[in-house]
Amino acid sequence: MNGPAATATTPPAPAGDVAARATAGFRQRYGGEPAGRWAAPGRVNLIGEHTDYNEGFVLPFALPLRTVVAAAARDDERWTVWSELDDDPVEFGPDEADAPGRVTGWAAYVAGVVWALRAAGHTVPGARLAIASDVPVGSGLSSSAAIESAVLAALVELGGLDLPAERWPRLAQRAENEYVGAPTGIMDQSAVIRGRAGHALFLDCRNEHVEQIPFDLDAAGLAMLVIDSRAPHRHADGEYASRRRSCEEAARALGVAALRDVDVADLDAALEKLPDDETRRRVRHVVTEDQRVLDTVALLRAGRVRDIGPLLTASHASMRDDFEITVPEVDTAVEAALAAGAYGVRMTGGGFGGCVLALVDADSADAVAAAVTTAYAERGFAAPGTVTALPAGGAARLD
Ligand code: ADP
Ligand code: MG
Repeated sequence: MNGPAATATTPPAPAGDVAARATAGFRQRYGGEPAGRWAAPGRVNLIGEHTDYNEGFVLPFALPLRTVVAAAARDDERWTVWSELDDDPVEFGPDEADAPGRVTGWAAYVAGVVWALRAAGHTVPGARLAIASDVPVGSGLSSSAAIESAVLAALVELGGLDLPAERWPRLAQRAENEYVGAPTGIMDQSAVIRGRAGHALFLDCRNEHVEQIPFDLDAAGLAMLVIDSRAPHRHADGEYASRRRSCEEAARALGVAALRDVDVADLDAALEKLPDDETRRRVRHVVTEDQRVLDTVALLRAGRVRDIGPLLTASHASMRDDFEITVPEVDTAVEAALAAGAYGVRMTGGGFGGCVLALVDADSADAVAAAVTTAYAERGFAAPGTVTALPAGGAARLD
């Protein structure tokens, strides 16, 4: 896991600078030089879990781990794309790009971007693209939004398209929802495209209002340890769907448009109106989690970065006990990191695996990572991945 502000304690594969790998891939596959290189980062959500579809608040930030696309326009209206994750390049033309589902597998994320641009009326230049990435795939760090956004940045510039960056998140999301067929909210693409170094992105999922919140870990002598739990995803899709259904039914029972409309001050009264203990716990998670996001934003605005620790840990307890979306691997990582002196620790992402975030003193990150690795070994879990990260910038041209 390379990158300016990322130190890997678990070596990534493949090795080497990610931008150099994209360029080397371009030269090897296509001959000649790329016209440019465009990068987009992975992201994590600092706090605000399962609040997005309840029209509430999230607070993601972009990681220094990036996906890089080396690209050049071509004369015909065709797109050839190679990724270091696959030996064989994939080529498609307008017919495939205009029919969601025609390009399958990983290249669908690229074809989806071409489709979304064309569907919005843009003339997309044919292009050759070579992709390398340090964002782990399928770990919940949003390698999918990273590949979409890097490709989007490349195609917009190669084609000289008139498309301001505020409109990119919606286009990349459409690529994933409608071409790939993966139902995701707007958070990932917003963080990956609009992320800013030293900041987290406060996003109101009801109206997509965004605000940059200072989150300068470096200046505070802090770092975020990102722990990949390596837990196998167990029935995550079905569990997600059932949580979502519970929340929607509860909102109907309470007579509100979405659970975001239940104020934490009115929570007890709202819970009394609900039919069963499980639904009450689901609602309590969402309502208190929205409030924790607001409290985190207030502390960060006041420059009190260390003080957000207890909110992170409370968020984890709520996900574990009320929303019931954690698994033994992530709970083990949280407990071990807290015992090793982290200020706050929580699972990030939809649950049933994925990554854990630990807010730590920068100079104790290695010790906390080692404590988690030891705890995993004691329980017989596969070794976790660990990387420290500072909030980084969003999608951009590299050179
Ligand atoms: P996440 O976004 O959490 O990493 P997803 O399942 O949403 O996980 O997206 C992962 C998928 O995105 C991969 O299976 C692959 O199809 C595609 N993908 C992401 N990064 C790359 C890449 N560098 N090269 C090719 N495909 C990629
Ligand atoms: Mg994804």
